[in-house]
This record gives sequence, structure tokens and C-alpha cells, in this order.
Amino acid sequence: MSIDVLIVGAGIIGAACADALAAEGLAVTVVEREATGSGATAAGMGHLVVMDDNPAELALTAYSLELWRQLAGADPVAHEYSGCGTLWIAADDEEMAAARAKQITLQAHGIACEMLDATALYAHEPQLRPGLSGGLRVSDDAIVYPPKSAALLLARAQRRGTQVCNGKVQALTGHGVLLADGRELRADKVLVANGSVSVQLLPELPIRPKKGHIVITDRYPGLIRHQLVELGYIKSAHAASGDSVAFNLQPRPTGQLLIGSSRQFDVTDKAVEPAILARMLAHAASFVPALTDLHALRCWTGLRAASSDGLPLLGPHPSRPDVWLATGHEGLGITTSLASAKLLAAQMAGRPAPIPITPYLPARFRQLRLQHG
Ligand SMILES: Cc1cc2nc3c(=O)[nH]c(=O)nc-3n(C[C@H](O)[C@H](O)[C@H](O)COP(=O)(O)OP(=O)(O)OC[C@H]3O[C@@H](n4cnc5c(N)ncnc54)[C@H](O)[C@@H]3O)c2cc1C
Repeated sequence: MSIDVLIVGAGIIGAACADALAAEGLAVTVVEREATGSGATAAGMGHLVVMDDNPAELALTAYSLELWRQLAGADPVAHEYSGCGTLWIAADDEEMAAARAKQITLQAHGIACEMLDATALYAHEPQLRPGLSGGLRVSDDAIVYPPKSAALLLARAQRRGTQVCNGKVQALTGHGVLLADGRELRADKVLVANGSVSVQLLPELPIRPKKGHIVITDRYPGLIRHQLVELGYIKSAHAASGDSVAFNLQPRPTGQLLIGSSRQFDVTDKAVEPAILARMLAHAASFVPALTDLHALRCWTGLRAASSDGLPLLGPHPSRPDVWLATGHEGLGITTSLASAKLLAAQMAGRPAPIPITPYLPARFRQLRLQHG
């Protein structure tokens, strides 16, 4: 059987793209070396969050949130979806000003949000430490359980005719891929969607790994109600180098809490690092002191695929014929997966994209235009 699009990787991005491309009537094959959603997708927090560092990020996250509400909102139990909203915490006056600026940007984009003074903040989240200034509540943000959503998307793609092949893609051949076991698969197009290791197949990609740690606790239903994120997170999340931790706490529908997160550039060893873990937990407990009394069940790490301008690469490789990209989603790939897939599908079908596509096109990187021409 001929393959229209061969997708490398069955993380949330590959799975969402398979689903969207199969819905276009294309013959899709997904090649995955391990289990569906076992990479960064399993390591992620599953926070579906509107981010507004730049207009392109806002457009992509807001559009994807709409798609998530349609998909997971219709079947919340299956996706372990909860519309808990995000509460951005302001520790001081400077961060309150940042919260107000964020509110103006989000409201201008039609996104519901409200400023909270300190009294309102503690009414929403009584476990927060005393002395905070307030915050911004973004009520339509949500959470899912990412590996489950990836599996559901891939299952729907399979019902639409997608084939799933277990194997490791060793190289792109120009007319398909070569697998590590020696098999060759021919395809009209190859979509590289294997996240932080996409540079192994395409060394010219402007992508670096960014390691993150997460801890999950036992069940404490009702202790926390929103995804809590410090506004200081924005500074550390976008630092260009060095190790950083930021307070990020999520109430799972099970009553468990996910505690995050850390960011380390260019670390590919996935071992849990006690020093960074201790720093991350101490920082989290400085926001919610009760965390020190909770029972942690497990901790793990994952590798984000950080592009050099913070936006994903979605579209044709500008100098490798028939190679397409859906990678570089950094710390937002769960959120932006559904929109990424729609933008890819529109481009492959030759249709106008639902939001302006230019900021995400791989051709924006000169190094991709110059090589392999
Ligand atoms: C600690 C942490 C917290 C995060 N929290 C959030 C969050 O709250 N919200 C959010 O939106 N995002 C979050 N993210 C980011 C999000 O998890 C990623 O952006 C997203 O999972 C990327 O998905 P992917 O499909 O591109 O990559 P992956 O999930 O890594 O999938 C790539 C797949 O490709 C397979 N593969 C690799 N190489 C090959 C090969 N050669 N041949 C065949 N298969 C191959 C892998 O086995 C893997 O299954 C977080 C990430 C981390 C690490």
C-alpha cells in the first residue's frame, strides 16, 4: 500500500497530526520506536494554557484551547480533562503590574480572565502562603492527561485508516525512511514529529533539549483547585541558558498534585537530579507550605524540544523535498498539538490555514533555507 505521509513519532504531536491528516483522506503511517506518548508527552504536565509572550504564541495557544474544549470537553473522563483554570500568582507590585498587562492582552483576544486582589486570591486558594499581592485567574485554561489523549487521537486516526508501525527511524532516504532493523518504507512525504530528538534525523534543526523534572503526590482532593503558576515563571521559562525552577502546581482529577517544574538546557541524561529536584520542591513549598507534609509518590524527567525562537516549526522543510516538520514545541506541545495538526493539514491540503501560518513556517530559519538545497 502506498503511503502519502509517513509520520516519525507517536507523541501528542505525531498522534494529532495523524488524526488530522487521516481526516483529510490521506494514507498515513506512523512509525514509533517505543510506546505511543512515551516521550515528552508522558513527562509533561498536561496544562492547556493560553500564553502570550508574543502574538504568534497567543494565536496558536488560544486556537488550540478552542480545539481542546471541543475534543476533550466532549469526553472529559477519557482525556482526564478538567477545566480548572489557571491562577497566575503575583508575589509583589511588579508582578501585579505584569498580571494587569497580561489581562489586557488576553481580554483583547477575547479570553476570559479576572484580576484578583490578595483577599480574592486567598478565597480561591487558601493554601497559598501569606503575603502575596494577588493574581490573574484565566478561567478557560484546563488540563488533560497527555499520554491518554495521544492514545485516543492515534486510535481515532487508526479508525480513519492510519497504520502504526513499531520501529526506529534511522535516516530519511529522500523517498521515505530507513528503519534501524534495515527495513525501508517509501512515502510521498515524511513528517518529522519526534520532538527533542528530531535533530538526530535533521542536524540542521534549530532545536535544543530542555530537561524538566516533575513530582506527583498521593491523593489530596480539594487541597488546590486551580493550576497555580507564579508570574515569575515567565522569566525563568524563557531564559536562554542556565538551570531554573519555577512554581507550577496542578490538581489532577484524581486528587493527586503534580509539582513542577525545572528547566535545564542541553541536558539529555534523563536521570532525576536530587539537587535540582530539592531546589524545585523548596521553591514550590515557599508558595504552598502544606506541600512539605504531603507524600510524594514518584518523580521523573522529560526533554522539551526548544526551538531558538520559542515557536514550533510547522510545515515543509525549505530545502529538503518532501520532508515536513512538526517539532520544536518546547513546554507547550500538549496545549498546541491540536492547532499544530490543523495548520499542518491545511498546508498539505493546499487550503488557507485557520490562523496566519507564517510565524510557524520552518522557512523562517535561514539555516534551513541554506542547507541541503
Ligand atoms: C517536564 C515537562 C512538563 C511539560 N508540561 C507541559 C504542559 O503543562 N503543557 C504543555 O502544553 N506542554 C508541556 N510540556 C511540553 C510537552 O510535553 C511537549 O511539547 C510535547 O509532549 C511534545 O510532543 P512530541 O510529540 O513533539 O514529542 P514526544 O512526546 O517526545 O514524542 C516523540 C515520539 O517520537 C518517538 N521517536 C523518537 N525518535 C524516533 C525515531 N527515530 N523513530 C521512531 N520514533 C521515534 C519517541 O519515542 C516519542 O514517542 C512539558 C514538557 C516537559 C518535559
